Amino acid sequence: MSDPSLTPELIEERLALLRAAFAERTDREVRIVGVTKRHPVPVIAMALDAGLVDLAENYAQELRAKAAELGSAAAGTGPVRWHFIGQLQSNKVRLIADDVSCWQSVDRGGVAEQIARRHPSATVMVQLDLAGIPGRGGCPPGEAAALVDRCRSLDLDVVGLMGVGAPGTADEARPGFRTLVSLADELGLPERSIGMSGDALAAVEEGSTMVRLGSALFGPRPAG
Ligand SMILES: *Cc1c(COP(=O)(O)O)cnc(C)c1O
Repeated sequence: MSDPSLTPELIEERLALLRAAFAERTDREVRIVGVTKRHPVPVIAMALDAGLVDLAENYAQELRAKAAELGSAAAGTGPVRWHFIGQLQSNKVRLIADDVSCWQSVDRGGVAEQIARRHPSATVMVQLDLAGIPGRGGCPPGEAAALVDRCRSLDLDVVGLMGVGAPGTADEARPGFRTLVSLADELGLPERSIGMSGDALAAVEEGSTMVRLGSALFGPRPAG
């Protein structure tokens, strides 16, 4: 179960504290994407009430179900800008092609091709594997330039790079963040989607333009 004491006001307070902490560390604008995976639709409604517009999910079926529920039930809420951040199977792209605003987890050519077919000119990010852990998603940094080229040749709008910090302390995630930021610079990509609840401040110090926050905003995730 999600934290029963969660309210839109509590989310707003947490957002204000986080924004202040980011502003102490950078002049850049850092966009906050709320990660709502495993939280039910009422938590999403609170996030929208608190002023969040960018929300992210990891599983295609879960995103589709929530988007459908919000579309029918939440006439009073503003539109959600959905980011897809999970490991993407090519055969799931079609299911959520009408829902997703930004595909953050493009890590191979086959997925890019499916997105280009189902969602022409889509906004995408290339996900890098920053920890060197195969099977967890992300392409090796050395292959990023070729994948970015492939996406561009498919007429996808590549806006940045995304990565999950290496496991361990926030400081242990910094070298990976630096790799991602310097690659984004080299490739001319403005967005760097790095930083989660445990390492957002380090990521902002290293050059993040977008943090993906779940537990820092909504508390622990329900099991499942
Ligand atoms: C779950 C998840 C997040 C958010 O994690 P928190 O630690 O709860 O902030 C961010 N990015 C990705 C890719 C995730 O899977």
